[in-house]
Amino acid sequence: MMLNIARIALLSILCIAPLDLFCWGFYGHKSINRMAVFTLPTDLMGFYKQHLEFVSAHAVDPDMRRYVVKEEAARHYIDIDHFGENPFDAVPREWNDAIDKYTEDTLQAYGIVPWHVERMYNRLVHAFKEKDIPYILKTSADIGHYIADAHVPLHTTENYNGQMTNQHGIHGFWESRLPELYAEDYDYFVGKAKLIDRPLDVIWDAVEESHNAVDSVLEFERALTEEFPSDRKYAFEERGRSTVKVYSRDFSAEYHVMLNHMVERRMRDAIISVGSFWYSAWVEAGKPDLDKPIPQEQLDRIEEERKELEAAYKVKPVKSREHDE
Ligand SMILES: [Zn+2]
Repeated sequence: MMLNIARIALLSILCIAPLDLFCWGFYGHKSINRMAVFTLPTDLMGFYKQHLEFVSAHAVDPDMRRYVVKEEAARHYIDIDHFGENPFDAVPREWNDAIDKYTEDTLQAYGIVPWHVERMYNRLVHAFKEKDIPYILKTSADIGHYIADAHVPLHTTENYNGQMTNQHGIHGFWESRLPELYAEDYDYFVGKAKLIDRPLDVIWDAVEESHNAVDSVLEFERALTEEFPSDRKYAFEERGRSTVKVYSRDFSAEYHVMLNHMVERRMRDAIISVGSFWYSAWVEAGKPDLDKPIPQEQLDRIEEERKELEAAYKVKPVKSREHDE
């Protein structure tokens, strides 16, 4: 009896522990930024290749910042379904128009990812014009993260972790567990980065595509759950020195088949989109020649900032959204 109680208590603790704490998982974000480099035209690819490790490693900084900077969280999502039946008609694409209609407080409360991508894009153009290489790299890594988040269906809904439909944990399931199991088999030949005319429209279109997939993401999981008893739906796996509760391999495999490559498609679209934003910013800045070494002290400063971020992140002064806990 005692043992059972202890086991139930342990199980419920493990239930809460997500497989991975972050959108797309650290693995996903790093891969997306890394692979975006290979979509670039040769005259720009050389520069990014030199800094491949940087743009990949720093792809996860925005997720760490969520636990350190209060304003950060809203930059990763938009709960578009908060805005009524036809939210994409209701919400103006332009930031100022949207503020006029809803106030900035409301927008911040329900997420601002498309506008934040636009802001990062303008920042990146500026950094290219200034040939400020550390800033180019930092902004490239950041915008890659936000673009990738905009491609995740559950980053576009109030029901972001299935919490409104008794599907708790689906957020990490879709964006971390499935890539963990299947990303090796994804096809990453995504083609070449394209010149973007209107960055804001491109990112809004991505949000809309993501949102169109929300129903399937939830519906398929609900249907499968009816077929799977709970002890087959979940399993326990070792993660380093701890044991975590995860969606079982059988359940994941069936969901993966039902989604019919959805995760892979969103990831591929994210990769090409990240490359296209970088490339377009560089072109808009007049294709600056970036063939100069970065002074060592600037590199040191960046590494210093990252260490500070990591240290602050460990303390987690800011509580983030439920699915991250
Ligand atoms: Zn994120």
